[in-house]
Amino acid sequence: MKYQPPKLPPRFPRVGAVGAEARADRAVQLAQVTLGAGGFTLIAGPCAVESQAQIDEAAEAVKKAGAQILRGGAFKPRTSPDTFQGLGLAGVDMLARAADSSGLPFVTEVTSPDMVELMLPRVDAFQIGARNMQNFSLLEAVGNTHTPVILKRHFGATLTEWLHAAEYIAKAGNQSIILCERGIRSFGQETRFTLDLAGAMWARAASRLPVIIDPSHAIGLPSLLPGAAAAALAAGLDGVMLEVHPTPQTARCDAEQALAPADFNALVEHLRPLAAAMGRAI
Ligand code: PEP
Ligand code: MN
Repeated sequence: MKYQPPKLPPRFPRVGAVGAEARADRAVQLAQVTLGAGGFTLIAGPCAVESQAQIDEAAEAVKKAGAQILRGGAFKPRTSPDTFQGLGLAGVDMLARAADSSGLPFVTEVTSPDMVELMLPRVDAFQIGARNMQNFSLLEAVGNTHTPVILKRHFGATLTEWLHAAEYIAKAGNQSIILCERGIRSFGQETRFTLDLAGAMWARAASRLPVIIDPSHAIGLPSLLPGAAAAALAAGLDGVMLEVHPTPQTARCDAEQALAPADFNALVEHLRPLAAAMGRAI
C-alpha cells in the first residue's frame, strides 16, 4: 500500500486568523526584530541574571557576536528549592538596563499571573517556561497583553498539547506567539533531554507561527550546539535560543551547558555560510 503521510491538523491558531491569513506564515514583531518572516533570529544570554555587571557583560558579548535578542532569567523555576531561584524584579531591572545600553531587546521568564502586570512595562517579551506550559491562568494573563510570548514546550507534552497551550494565549487576544522546542524526555540520559526537531517542524507547519529551538536545555552539551543550531536553520525554523555566560564555570544556574562568549561567536560564524546559501538573514 502506498505510504500515506499523517495529515496536519487544521491551521492554528484559529482565533483572529481566517481565510488567507490562516494559510500564511504569521510573523511576530518583537521590538525591532521580526520572527517568522524568513530571517533566522539569535536569542542569547545567561540562564539567570546574577548581577548588573554579569548581565551587562553578557549583553555586550552576545550583541558583538550577532545576537538580536538578549535572554536572562530573573524568576527561575528550579527543580530543587535549595538552588538559586533568581533575583526577581531586581533582576528584571538589571536586564532592562543591560538591554538599554546594548540596544538589544530582551526576553525573560514570567512564572506567576500576578507578576505579568508588574513586568509588563519593563519587558520586550515574556517567556513561559517548560514547566508552566499548562499553567492556564498564566497563559491567559500573558494573553491579555500585547507583549510577544515565547512559549516553551513542556518536556512531557505532545505537540497538540503545546499548540492548545498556545491557543489559550491567542484566544485571550494575543497573537504574538513564538513557539520554542526545548527538548522532551525520552529514555536516553546522555543528552539532557531529546531535541524534537521534527516536532518543531511539524508545529511550524501546523500553526504557521514562528518556531525556534533551545538546544542548550535540550542537549546540555556546549560542543553539540553549533550543529543543532545549523540543523534548525536548515530545517526552516525561525531561530535559536542559547545560554551564553561571560564565565560559564562560575554560572549559578546551568553552568555545564553555557557557552563562553568566544564559543558563541564561533557558533554564529558557523551559521553564516549556511544562512547565506539559503538566502536567510541572521
Ligand atoms: C530557561 O530558559 O532558563 C529555562 C528554565 O528553560 P525551560 O523552561 O525550557 O526549562
Ligand atoms: Mn537554563
